[in-house]
Amino acid sequence: MQLQFDNRFVAALPADPETTNQRRQVHRAGYSWVTPTPVANPSLVAVADEVADLLGLSVEDCQSPEFLAVFSGNKVPAGAQPFAMAYGGHQFGNWAGQLGDGRAINLGEVIGRDGQAWAIQLKGAGATPYSRTADGLAVLRSSIREFLCSEAMYHLGVPTTRALSLIQTGEQVMRDMMYDGNAEFEPGAVVCRVSPSFVRFGNFQLFAARDEVDELRMLTNFVIQQHFPHLLDDFDTESPELVAAFFDAVCQRTVHMVVEWMRVGFVHGVMNTDNMSILGLTIDYGPYGWLDSYDPDWTPNTTDAQHRRYRYGQQANVALWNCYQLANALYPLVNDSKPLEASLEAFQASYQAQWHAMMASKLGLLEFKPEDADLIAALESLLTHTETDMTLFYRCLSQPELTVSTFKPAFYADELSADYHSAMTAWLKRYQARLAQDGRSQTARAAAMNAVNPKFVFRNYLAQQAIELAEAGDFSRIHTLLDVLRKPYDAQPDQSQFAARRPDWAKTKAGCSMLSCSS
Ligand code: AMP
Ligand code: MG
Repeated sequence: MQLQFDNRFVAALPADPETTNQRRQVHRAGYSWVTPTPVANPSLVAVADEVADLLGLSVEDCQSPEFLAVFSGNKVPAGAQPFAMAYGGHQFGNWAGQLGDGRAINLGEVIGRDGQAWAIQLKGAGATPYSRTADGLAVLRSSIREFLCSEAMYHLGVPTTRALSLIQTGEQVMRDMMYDGNAEFEPGAVVCRVSPSFVRFGNFQLFAARDEVDELRMLTNFVIQQHFPHLLDDFDTESPELVAAFFDAVCQRTVHMVVEWMRVGFVHGVMNTDNMSILGLTIDYGPYGWLDSYDPDWTPNTTDAQHRRYRYGQQANVALWNCYQLANALYPLVNDSKPLEASLEAFQASYQAQWHAMMASKLGLLEFKPEDADLIAALESLLTHTETDMTLFYRCLSQPELTVSTFKPAFYADELSADYHSAMTAWLKRYQARLAQDGRSQTARAAAMNAVNPKFVFRNYLAQQAIELAEAGDFSRIHTLLDVLRKPYDAQPDQSQFAARRPDWAKTKAGCSMLSCSS
């Protein structure tokens, strides 16, 4: 097994001179050197073959003892220079100071088959100087959720970090899953995550908060050179205009990411600024969830139950708030608030436009017209009027015959009110009149709709079932789901059980409708 390392992040930024693995505040450094903690008895649970292939690893490589040793953290591969990043962040709206990779250890960047550099990191590989009071470990339950969801998101076409492997450590980890005083031992696991970069808004914020402007500049230069090189064609190196253009690009990527979350019904759950990727990728799959019934106020995160800051319908506003924090962090390199404010204003306009275009595509319209805003608003109100499964609703909407009973598979209630029935009938009539304006054939409309409205998403109860089976030693469901979720837009009729709406038992069950940050 050969991994071609080219460690760019550590080459571009200063290292913490202290090399012991003790919890501490780290100043004027982008990262600390730290090696993964070896584990007792690793066993391979799953590999995403496409990600392995990206990194130049064959199917045989992935089954080798070497692979198991490297991706469990038991062996540092040749060329790797393991480290944990320093970053800070706003958690639930409050500045939390230094956070950092408390349980993720980066091995470095690997040059993939495509010539691109891929950062690889092991999540749950032991304590680092940033572990604060926690243990640096991860449990099987949350690792299955991260592994499967990041791959599901990729195949849905949503910008995301990827996952290469899921490995059980053979060790037990103590967790209080619902933070209610009932701590238990759970099986430990390590996920290898793969991304062009793991830099977050919080990396910039930590330098800015400490007035470490030289380091802030080094980080900014590095990220621009590696990930936004096209900006260097138009702006001078280190110019305020370059940094402002970079900020604008980050805002635009963030807009795109959130619009995509809205399209598929994904709720991130912990949009703290340390969980915001500078590349606009979905990162840190913790207490995320998927809308079953359409409800803009829903959040899966019980830690956020009181204010529901990170509820589905609030994600764009929170993303914008997070971009404000990034603007503050970059300000010392721009020294002028005007261009930064212009990008924040553009965020809102561009979100609105992209959201409208996305909704028009979900409805199978050729394009969004201003008068469609009302049609969309009326639909949203109907979807919350009676409990309606979002994913199933949009799949049903591509049918040729549209009556209220077309949507039967999507309704959670057995009976519909007369009110609802007539409102829905009226809406469908209006919708069909709008479709007639486009004059698209039914086949073309259905094909276009089924390419943006997935049949299969990683529903909360599917995750829970896979976890319960895995904890009983049966990993087959993980493999089945990984496979089904590779083609989320295909009908896959023999897999339809995984497209079913939430069963009643899952409505109030921990792990399905309620998740804490405990992972
Ligand atoms: P999160 O909300 O999961 O993004 O985590 C917030 C911060 O807590 C990050 O700095 C994580 O590295 C850290 N953290 C979360 N869980 C653990 C853990 N089990 N051990 C050490 N650090 C952790
Ligand atoms: Mg995080």
